[in-house]
Amino acid sequence: MPMTLRWLLVALFFVPMRSADAGDVKDSDVYARIKARLDAVPAIDTHSHLRGPRQLQNVLEHEFRGDKPSDCALHRVWSVSYFTWAHPLAAWPADRRFDAWWTAAQADFDNSRARSAYRAMLPIFRDLYGVDFESLTLDQAEELNARMEKNYENPDWADEVLRKRANTELMVVDSFVMPREVRDHYPFTVSACNVRWLINGFHPSEFSKLPAADPYAFAAQHRLPAASLDDYVAVLDRILAEAKKAGAVCLKSQTAYDRTLLFERISKQQVEPVFGKPRDELNPAQIKAFQDYIFWRLAELSAKHELPFQIHTGHAYIQGSNPMNLVDLIQANPQTKFILFHGGFPWVGETGMIALKCPNVWIDSVWMPVLSHTVGKRAYREWLDLFSSNRIMWGSDMSTIEGSYGATVYTRQCIYEALAEKVMDKELREKDAVRIGRQILRENALEMFPPLRKQVAASEAR
Ligand SMILES: [Zn+2]
Repeated sequence: MPMTLRWLLVALFFVPMRSADAGDVKDSDVYARIKARLDAVPAIDTHSHLRGPRQLQNVLEHEFRGDKPSDCALHRVWSVSYFTWAHPLAAWPADRRFDAWWTAAQADFDNSRARSAYRAMLPIFRDLYGVDFESLTLDQAEELNARMEKNYENPDWADEVLRKRANTELMVVDSFVMPREVRDHYPFTVSACNVRWLINGFHPSEFSKLPAADPYAFAAQHRLPAASLDDYVAVLDRILAEAKKAGAVCLKSQTAYDRTLLFERISKQQVEPVFGKPRDELNPAQIKAFQDYIFWRLAELSAKHELPFQIHTGHAYIQGSNPMNLVDLIQANPQTKFILFHGGFPWVGETGMIALKCPNVWIDSVWMPVLSHTVGKRAYREWLDLFSSNRIMWGSDMSTIEGSYGATVYTRQCIYEALAEKVMDKELREKDAVRIGRQILRENALEMFPPLRKQVAASEAR
């Protein structure tokens, strides 16, 4: 062997094999320091479906206990999570035999071990119950279930888990579609006003199955005329004003589940003939035009009432939920603060580009790490490459106390990993990584929703 080749082989032997030796970023000192600093930051969760204390009492009394119990806590926490969006879970058996359910469910869990929607649930069992879900025996699982059900008797369980353990200071909950007093809530939750169905107001019959979201009932209650298209837009104006008075801090639309996000600029003359007609007298193009027209009015009213507009983008009706479809609307409404939910997953690059081009856009990473931790980490890194760090937020997007805890811990982890990797790549100083983490977890939401600042100040004063 020639000398040079021999030296080359020797040299190669001593070159650190990054992929083999670098290991898990979570084992690094940088990650540990970032985690310690950011775990101490009280977070603001910008989107949740957390059920209120009364609803949870109902679950305990009727689903887990009572004459005809229909579920158990361990099955429920999984079945209402995002686990079941991509894989079925064995149903809770009619004979209520825990062993039968647990045995049947093992195959479902086995098929999902790598999924983020599964892994985001593991912190619940590890942190709140001190058990490893993946190695539970039948007896241990049954005991865990009994402990979970017992916790529902504790009226402070939500506060204990979310405020004390997850360190979430405030949560914006998607809790009403019409302005009304929200009685079933926690002291740490505030409301978003959901406007999803208002775009269908061409005829009152659209709301016959949605009485709680009926703008015509609202108009009658407030003695407002609703006989013309202009009247209808004035009703929407009033709904938003009342929602703000009732404590809503933003608007929320998940229309992306129903139709394309391509909302085109439509003239009043085009849709005036549509107003007042029931669905069976209209064709799909007319309905879309009406919805487009109203969505534009909602974007204007969002600016008028200073209620930022949270819009579900990505993962929904995927033929039309790419956030690129919103760009014309966004650029034509520079006074409206658009918050693109879920990072536009999986179109996270497109969403980043929209934020780069449109100063009236903020990205909310809510749900994204729970859909894919891999994409989530890449998205945080790419977005921080692209635009300023004061325009990214996060949320847990879950309905149960435990699910919210899991999503929060998992999202925090994803953010810390992305930041630690940037520090280790020498693309960011550690002190700046900590500052950016604090912005994403807390400061950006306080800046976006000024009423929350008052609430934070009030709780600090107590
Ligand atoms: Zn949601």
